[in-house]
Amino acid sequence: MLAFLPKLENQPAGIPAPRKTVKAKPAAKTARPKTDGCPPALDGDIYLVKGISAATAPKFHKMGINTVRDLLYYFPNRHLDYSRLKKISQLEAGSEQTIIANVWQSKVNYMGGRRSTEAVLGDDTGNMRAVWFNNPYMVRNLKPNARVVLSGRVSIFNGRPVFESPEWEELPDEADLIHTGRLVPVYPLTAGLHQRSLRRLMKNFIDISTPGISDFLPEDTLKRTRLLPLAEAIRQAHFPDTEELKDAARNRLAFDELFILQLGVLAKKKRWQEQTGRALKINLPAIDHFISQLPFKLTDAQTKCLADIKADISKSVPMSRLLQGEVGSGKTIVAVISLFTAAANGLQGAFMAPTEILAEQHFKSVTRLFASIAKVSTLLDGVYTFEGLLDRPLRVALMISDMKSSQKDILKEKIKKGEIDIAIGTHALIQKEIRFKSLGLAVIDEQHRFGVEQRSALRSKGLNPHILIMTATPIPRTLALTLYGELDLSVIDELPPGRQSIKTRWLKPEQRNSAYNFIRKQIEAGRQAFIICPLVEESEAIQAKAATAEYETLSSEVFPESKVALLHGRMNAAEKESIMKHFNEGKMDILVSTPVVEVGIDIPNATVMLVESADRFGLSQLHQFRGRVGRGTEQSYCMFLAENPSLLGQERLSIIESTQDGFKLAEEDLRLRGPGEFFGTRQSGLPDLRMASISDVGLLEQARREATRLFESDPELNLPENKALEEEIRRVWPKKSEWS
Ligand code: ADP
Ligand code: MG
Repeated sequence: MLAFLPKLENQPAGIPAPRKTVKAKPAAKTARPKTDGCPPALDGDIYLVKGISAATAPKFHKMGINTVRDLLYYFPNRHLDYSRLKKISQLEAGSEQTIIANVWQSKVNYMGGRRSTEAVLGDDTGNMRAVWFNNPYMVRNLKPNARVVLSGRVSIFNGRPVFESPEWEELPDEADLIHTGRLVPVYPLTAGLHQRSLRRLMKNFIDISTPGISDFLPEDTLKRTRLLPLAEAIRQAHFPDTEELKDAARNRLAFDELFILQLGVLAKKKRWQEQTGRALKINLPAIDHFISQLPFKLTDAQTKCLADIKADISKSVPMSRLLQGEVGSGKTIVAVISLFTAAANGLQGAFMAPTEILAEQHFKSVTRLFASIAKVSTLLDGVYTFEGLLDRPLRVALMISDMKSSQKDILKEKIKKGEIDIAIGTHALIQKEIRFKSLGLAVIDEQHRFGVEQRSALRSKGLNPHILIMTATPIPRTLALTLYGELDLSVIDELPPGRQSIKTRWLKPEQRNSAYNFIRKQIEAGRQAFIICPLVEESEAIQAKAATAEYETLSSEVFPESKVALLHGRMNAAEKESIMKHFNEGKMDILVSTPVVEVGIDIPNATVMLVESADRFGLSQLHQFRGRVGRGTEQSYCMFLAENPSLLGQERLSIIESTQDGFKLAEEDLRLRGPGEFFGTRQSGLPDLRMASISDVGLLEQARREATRLFESDPELNLPENKALEEEIRRVWPKKSEWS
């Protein structure tokens, strides 16, 4: 059986890294003789491969190729299409083309101040030039009268075709089709390895070893998906017979990566679902009464998401749901109704935000909401008590690090005794030494890692509450399925009525003054403004310093007549709190803020946002900034300033200017920046896929479908027909328990 080794370096948390391949010692006893007919064992050292010696093996090891299997999966970066040769007279500018020609002359020339090789070549239809910029050594390879194959892009210079730094090789015997006359692999190399010799080695190796490869995909899956058998796929990925087979090979190998990833994700989901949770009653009169008393009618999207949640929490399997919704789409109320439902069932709820400012804001809006419906009876130790909602008082508390420790102790005690129904705080609520008497639901707001850590924190405490994770970062479907496939997904895809779209403009540096004038006019009309400082990457301290300087210029020179406030990440919670409070109460006109500060705040009177160095932010982040305005009834504006944007920066700016659709922006962000950068961090826990692309929706869904199907019929992969696959997964993830 051939076990398959996808390289999964940065897996989603919880999936362990694949076992490092143990380097087999080339012990003479076990080493098979290097014969043409008998391939070495897959786990054997590459030293066993014909053409690799003890001297060359270390060069392969350096590239991470230790075993025979590694070598099988050492795929070329690309292929040169030598199958469609052209004559010189047929060459066109632009596309990659190949010719066979005679070298007439070659010499070293200065081009652009660099020593370069220039050659004149010809075939029976004409002559042309080829240049290798900055490569004087090429000249040695191009002996006059040699017959060579050149492949590369052609440009037209003075009306004549020129090859610029083409791939080349001496024309081999016509019988030897490794290098020419076909799709020829181009392998990634390291010092001391040469393309031509590696290619020859690989051809021989692939020819010998692929017939012995058996497929780990179940028959049934293969039949249904019509994927290439593994051996064929590996062969065609290296030395494809046609362009179509090359693609089919890629497709099969990419499928394998995604399929195994999905099986891991499903296993994770299953482990979570094997826990027993509390089935909540969802049809209690108190809940309906509460919903009917809300100051607004829920949108259809909110109602639908709430129905998903209710269906989940009424089961004895703990919910794991991701609630996505644009900024301002009204996720909070969905969370509050869910938390209220837990309370109505006599259980506790935890509502967690990533920062203290946001936790306080949640606390305020939650208590304000309850207060608009019910009587606040006592106000004690940061605990609000509401009468008339349940057949007992409903107790809501805020717990943040910024409190007096005596007060914290009181709160902790109350939470432990079950005297708090809804606790609001940061993620520390479940991570620190706080014990809940009976935690029924945990809501985790705005987290990029989507609660992975919080969930394991809960589980390590032996708690299995229902979990609702909320995010305003629209995650493209493919990413959600790959990374968070163990979460069920609900999307609030509609904004509450009456929201207007935010007028967005990308400004050039010379328009800065008119931007300031515009802000001035808005302030005169009684509105407020945000100014996001230029991005400084070095550290939060330097960022704070730069923001302070910016603040000083703005407050004393640009807006001397306005009240300008500054917010940055180095301020302590109390400072931030008081600034936000002032801004919220309308005592300040302009808030100058660093981008690192989570401005996840709701200030309906703020109508203008100016973002400096906007080209340096990702689309999703720009969209988040923009979401800070337009939260009231007034027309709002967003201005993105860019000094000297790169082409990519320009593309991002024109996209954000033209759409307000967060999902579309997220898809674009993924396309432009790649999945690793998508969340603004490289440590996003994304698997490192070799063949598959995370944006390949069709294949991903196919893999997901097949994995689900298999999982339904044989979740533990016990059936004989799934044995090979089970071994394969075990090889990739050695400890099954770690799947979860
Ligand atoms: P987010 O999804 O960004 O967390 P919020 O929950 O903060 O959004 O809601 C944004 C604003 O919309 C709040 O002021 C909230 O009271 C209001 N809101 C939420 N749902 C509705 C609704 N169905 N109708 C009208 N206003 C709503
Ligand atoms: Mg919110």
